[in-house]
Amino acid sequence: MAEPTRVVVIGAGPGGYAAAFHAADRGMRVRLIDEAPRPGGVCLHRGCMPSKALLHVAGVMAEARAAGAWGVEFGPPRVDPERLRAWKDQVVERLTGGLAGLVRQREIDYVQGRASLIDAHTVRVETAGGAAETIPFDAGILATGSRPARPGSLAAESPRVLDSTAALDLERAPPTLLVVGGGYIGLELGVVYAALGSEVTVVEMTSGLLPGVDRDLVAVLARRLRRDFKAIHLDTQVSELAPVDGGVEAVLDGPAADPPRQRFDAVLVAVGRAPNSDVTGLDRTAVTLDAGGFVEVDAQRRTAEPSLFAVGDVAGEPMLAHKAMHEARVAVEAIAGDAAAAFEPAAIPAVVFTDPEVAWCGLTEAQAARDGRAVSVSRFPWAASGRALTRGRTDGLTKLVVDPGAEQVVGVGIVGAGAGELIAEGVLAVEMGASAADVRLAIHPHPTLSETVAEAAEAVVGQGMHVHRPKRK
Ligand code: FAD
Ligand code: NAD
Repeated sequence: MAEPTRVVVIGAGPGGYAAAFHAADRGMRVRLIDEAPRPGGVCLHRGCMPSKALLHVAGVMAEARAAGAWGVEFGPPRVDPERLRAWKDQVVERLTGGLAGLVRQREIDYVQGRASLIDAHTVRVETAGGAAETIPFDAGILATGSRPARPGSLAAESPRVLDSTAALDLERAPPTLLVVGGGYIGLELGVVYAALGSEVTVVEMTSGLLPGVDRDLVAVLARRLRRDFKAIHLDTQVSELAPVDGGVEAVLDGPAADPPRQRFDAVLVAVGRAPNSDVTGLDRTAVTLDAGGFVEVDAQRRTAEPSLFAVGDVAGEPMLAHKAMHEARVAVEAIAGDAAAAFEPAAIPAVVFTDPEVAWCGLTEAQAARDGRAVSVSRFPWAASGRALTRGRTDGLTKLVVDPGAEQVVGVGIVGAGAGELIAEGVLAVEMGASAADVRLAIHPHPTLSETVAEAAEAVVGQGMHVHRPKRK
């Protein structure tokens, strides 16, 4: 019997553990290396999961406040930071403990330590205790992820200048918090801290929050954030951060930043993430990096070095856990010899878990405009959704981006409470090449927010049950 393929996976985040699991399930001999004692990577330990636990709490508090309008009054919430932190840590604990169990059940050898490459077929792992192990492999998968970016002007060292990891530790809710960056992390954690009582100011260097996302979706979120945050400064940068006694002074460089020099109790820097492609010894292989430092891969996620693959954040945008997991499966299929394996999604969903959530997949209207591609766009406002009304959440919009010829759905965008769950139907529609008629002829349960997707599809042909549209000639 042939010896099993020896696979080494560096990094045990969503890309790395998924790769290890797929490889083990195919009978390969797998070593999974990470510096952390347990698998999970950024996503489980200090990213997706702790942030979503805290956002859930923020959502409960907002909903309790909103109930006042329905005749139900709760007292102001009293947050016990220690118990909240303990609950969040327990979520992480259970998830990473569960993953560790799955590693054992699959008989994957989990090696805790820092990996470097000796050559294209050998990895060296240095353990925390100072010991080192050299591991030969047939195929290696780089899944080393990413870390917070910190450009020079924001490099001030102070316990009051936080990155997402520190912010998720939830040491305290500062009375005033400056968030630098109006992207995913800035807005999600801004929502958390605003709920915990901080006065949040967001500074975003471009002309709008969530750059790249369709403006009509962002507008719905921005309306709410302008109420929940103290200020949002667009077209503004922070040119200087200086720790001062009991706080941080920031120099804001933008049209509405008056005065430019402002003092905050803490600052969260969330201006993007940088790939962990600086793996020692990578230069001893043929692996190449692009201008952004991401490992260059082909459709199979194979690098320029035939024995090495890369998946997840280190292999390029979008830096999302589900993208990492899907790349992992493709890489393992390629290692198993499946020549047809390829990572070619039509739609990678993205969800910003703010309140309301913003979700999109496939082609956005903005991208179509940039590409000069003709599309038709149909929108269904949630004010016309019975379900949205019963939940007191009419602040939403569902839109379909449709190829005007075949009326094929090529993109879906949703903003509203629970948009992250709803986008899954959009992903299926885009991946399956569904037409707007396929979507509207599928019976959606009543009364649910999923009907907004069907109504947006109805609107493609100028119909629609709950919005009157002039007859199409
Ligand atoms: P990572 O999860 O970054 O894991 C890489 C692992 O490699 C780490 O454990 C690291 O210790 C290890 N490692 C690196 N170098 C070495 C080495 N030399 N030797 C040994 N080990 C090494 N994405 C979503 O899809 N949904 C979300 O809701 C979401 N929320 C997020 C919230 C926050 C605050 C942050 C920061 C990120 C969030 N993300 C979210 C992004 C998501 O966390 C990443 O896309 C995902 O973790 C990438 O997975 P990965 O496997 O590529 O790498
Ligand atoms: P981001 O790219 O989403 O947003 C960074 C924002 O900072 C951008 O809007 C950018 O224009 C702005 N910016 C950059 N430099 C600036 C400066 N000097 N001053 C002011 N603004 C500046 O990055 P992020 O929020 O740090 O998140 C990193 C990545 O992590 C995301 O792109 C995403 O891939 C992932 N993530 C995903 C989720 C999710 O899926 N829900 C949540 C958190 C993070």
